[in-house]
Amino acid sequence: MNKIEIIAVGNEIVYGYTLNTNSTWMSAELEKSGIEVCYHTAIRDRQDDINQALNIACSRANIIILCGGLGPTKDDFTKEEVSNYFGLELCYHQQTVDDIKNFFAKRNKIMGESNLKQAYFPKGSTIIPNHNGTAPGCYFEQNNILVALFPGPPRELHPMFQHFIKQCIYDRLEVKCLTEEIRLYGIGESEAANKIDDLLGIFNQVEIAPYIQDGYVTIRLKGYGKTKEEIKTNINTHKSNIIERLQPFVIGEDSRNISELIFDKIKLKGYKISTAESCTGGMLAARIVDNNGASEIFSEGLITYSNEAKTKLIGVKAETLDQFGAVSIEVAKEMAIGVKNTTNSEIGISTTGIAGPTGATADKPVGLVFIGIAINDTSYAYKLNLIGSRQEIRKLSVDHALHLLYKLL
Ligand code: AMP
Ligand code: MG
Repeated sequence: MNKIEIIAVGNEIVYGYTLNTNSTWMSAELEKSGIEVCYHTAIRDRQDDINQALNIACSRANIIILCGGLGPTKDDFTKEEVSNYFGLELCYHQQTVDDIKNFFAKRNKIMGESNLKQAYFPKGSTIIPNHNGTAPGCYFEQNNILVALFPGPPRELHPMFQHFIKQCIYDRLEVKCLTEEIRLYGIGESEAANKIDDLLGIFNQVEIAPYIQDGYVTIRLKGYGKTKEEIKTNINTHKSNIIERLQPFVIGEDSRNISELIFDKIKLKGYKISTAESCTGGMLAARIVDNNGASEIFSEGLITYSNEAKTKLIGVKAETLDQFGAVSIEVAKEMAIGVKNTTNSEIGISTTGIAGPTGATADKPVGLVFIGIAINDTSYAYKLNLIGSRQEIRKLSVDHALHLLYKLL
C-alpha cells in the first residue's frame, strides 16, 4: 500500500506568517486524481528539522513530497539537505542554467551567481521544469522511496505539480479513491448523524463521515478500489441509503459549492439577481461574482448600510424603518423587493442584521439577522439567530442567504 507524506519547508509557514496552502492544495489535487495523502508535516528551514522529518517520513511513507526551500538564497537548502540525507551527490544540469538565463533575459535581467545552485540536482533525478520561476523541481527514487521536491511559490508549484501527478504518480498507484458528498441544509451535524448513525463508519472500502463546511453539514463518502467504476458502484449503494433517510435536507449531491449551484439555477431560468446588503457589506455579492461568467446572472450589488441608503437607493419606506427598525423582517422584505425593482431584476436578495459585538438591544441580540428574498411577484423573509464573531456571523448570513435562495429556486 502506498503512503504519501507532504513536508512543507519554510520558517514562514511554521512561525505563522504564511498559511500552508501548498500542502492543502497538493492533497486536494491528489485527491481529485483519486490518490490519498496520509501525512502533512511542516518544518522550519533547519538542517536538523529536515533530517528528523525525513527520518519520520521514511519510516511511514513511500512517497515523500517536499515543497519550499528551493530558492537561490542561503536560507533555502531543502534540496541540498535532502540529497545529503539520501547519500546522493548534486549534479550540474546545463539545460537548467540555460533556462534560468532565458527566464531573466525575457525580463531584461541577467542571472545572478546565486541562481547557479538551482541548477544542481540529486544524482539520478528527473527534473520538473519551472516555467514561472527559476527553481525547477525534481524527483528521484532511493531505497524504494519516491522523493519529490517543489518550490514554495504557489503559482510556480501548481503547474509543476500537475505535471508530476500525470507523469509520475498516477500510474504508480493501484488502489485509488473517490470522494462524493451529500450536502444538507436545515439540519445540524449531530441531528443528521443520529438519523444515519448505523450508516456512518467504514464499510467494505467506503468511509462515511459527516463534516461541517461553510456553515452546512456535508456527508462525505470516500471509496477505495482499483477502478473508478468499481468505487462508484460501491459508493452509490451507501449514498442512496443516506439520501433516503435525509431527503428533506438534501440540497446537493456533488461537491460544487452553493454559489455555483445557484449560478446554474438562475442561469437556467434566464433570470438576473441583485443584492441589497447591510450587515454583510458586499460579501453576498462577492460570492455571486465568484462564479466565472457572473455577468450572465448578476445585475447590481448595493450596500445599503445606513437607513438613508435603504430609503434613497432601494425605496425602503421611512415608516417601516421607524416602526420596525432596520433589523426586521419587514425591512428585509422591502429591501429585497426594492432592489429587485430598482435594478429591473427577477430576483432581489437582502441581508440586515446585528453582526456585533456591539449594537445589540434587549429584543435584538447579536446574531439576529433577516434575509429577504423577492422572486418576481413573490417575496419571503427569514429570521436567523446566528452565533459567532462579527466575521463569522457575516459569513454565516451569506451562507444562509444563498441556501435559502437555492431552496426557493
Ligand atoms: P521558497 O521556495 O522556500 O523560496 O518559498 C518562497 C515563497 O513561497 C515563500 O516566501 C512563501 O510565500 C511561499 N510558500 C512557501 N511555502 C509555502 C506553503 N507551504 N504554502 C504556501 N506558500 C508557500
Ligand atoms: Mg523558503
